[in-house]
Amino acid sequence: MRRHRHAKIVATVGPASASPERLKALFLAGVDTFRLNFSHGLHQDHARVHAAIRDLERETGRPIGILQDLQGPKIRIGTVAGGKLDLAAGDRVRFVPEGREGDVRAIPLPHPEIFASVAPGQDLLIDDGRVRVRVTGVQDDALDAEVVTGGVISDRKGVNLPGTVLALSPLTEKDRADLAFGLELGVDWVALSFVQTPSDVIEARGLIGGRAGLMTKIEKPSALEHIEDIVRLSDAVMVARGDLGVELPPEDVPGRQKELVRACRRAVKPVIVATQMLETMVSAPSPTRAEASDVATAVYDGADAVMLSAESAVGQYPVEAVTMMDRIIRRTETHRLYRSLVAATEPEVEDSPPHAVAAAAAGLADSIQAAAIVAFTLSGTTAARIARKRPNVPILAATPDPGVSRRLSLYWGAHSVLSEDIASYEAMVGKAAEIAQSEGFAQSPDLVVVVAGVPFGTPGTTNNLRVIELGRGI
Ligand code: PGA
Ligand code: MN
Repeated sequence: MRRHRHAKIVATVGPASASPERLKALFLAGVDTFRLNFSHGLHQDHARVHAAIRDLERETGRPIGILQDLQGPKIRIGTVAGGKLDLAAGDRVRFVPEGREGDVRAIPLPHPEIFASVAPGQDLLIDDGRVRVRVTGVQDDALDAEVVTGGVISDRKGVNLPGTVLALSPLTEKDRADLAFGLELGVDWVALSFVQTPSDVIEARGLIGGRAGLMTKIEKPSALEHIEDIVRLSDAVMVARGDLGVELPPEDVPGRQKELVRACRRAVKPVIVATQMLETMVSAPSPTRAEASDVATAVYDGADAVMLSAESAVGQYPVEAVTMMDRIIRRTETHRLYRSLVAATEPEVEDSPPHAVAAAAAGLADSIQAAAIVAFTLSGTTAARIARKRPNVPILAATPDPGVSRRLSLYWGAHSVLSEDIASYEAMVGKAAEIAQSEGFAQSPDLVVVVAGVPFGTPGTTNNLRVIELGRGI
């Protein structure tokens, strides 16, 4: 089962996609990693989806990634008197801790940390940024504000505080319980929402350890200020444009997307571009021209993966949305300008032997027009280093570790293959030839480039390069 593209597809599971039949249809249409959104759904629902995906793996023989997306410290207002408040520009409002309302104009805000963290002049955005208020005064138990952009607000609407670093752990009590549940299930990735600082990532790593890959969602301006450290401390990154586009003006998001993709490519960390990619397909069978262009832009930027949210979770056309994404990626990657655009944004590769060998493998495979690169990789790093060069040739990432093989399903260009450990040079060459042929990527007399670390079984070494011609023996 071979995908004819390099960039990967992540799809969020929800009521429109949770049945085993639908999950299979989505996988066949092109989903490489499924996202379980823990802002919604019961544990038992997520457990059922998880089991169905693992069944699908067994049935198809292909590693499939499962991403647990934690809700994080999403801030919401409480319930407002009468269920709704109509605010006009210039109105004065007061936010109070939950249970302290009395005045009908007071808006409960059940997050005590906010009262300690905001200062006059800062803005609170309510309901995905539809309503904007500016803080005019702060007391221990009240915030006074003036409405800048009016609108109707209702119970439990979300609040964003773009200019404020809140004294909040990135993991709420709910997140901690969800995380324990997800790790017990055996998810491959855990995504952290609303990360503000590098120490947020360190705190989460302490809880996750090596049991899953740690993905940081970039959706706060404060995270952008520490982006190099955050990328370095994370195993993967999501450009979470939904909240990022509320916290930043929309015109800032495209440039930030390009910076983030580049920072991740430089650091050899997979990066997902997410949110509203084919939004129209929630209720229509085809996307707008602008949406097709948005998916293509992420591919031209060299992103590892693009993501569907509501389109696959609650939309009317989940399979069509995946099919459309697959079509856009394939057309983009075969467009005559694609190679030069991806090469133009290629980050500098540092001089260490593993990076240089991986880069040489990618360059060699391209120049001899090899049918495949076979990378033997314990941790996935060798495959990721080769992928960083964005070669035109598919990367068969052979690993003995099922968790690594599932995580590799997110990496640009990687076709992961579960294979037993190799012990010798001869075994490596024989196995590479066998994998390239049995996976349907090469046949005699194709050339295959083989990359490994010697001595075998030592993670992190990428020091060996070999060209084999199939059908020519060793
Ligand atoms: P969410 O994250 O869907 O969990 O909010 C993605 C985003 O904000 O873009
Ligand atoms: Mn978000």
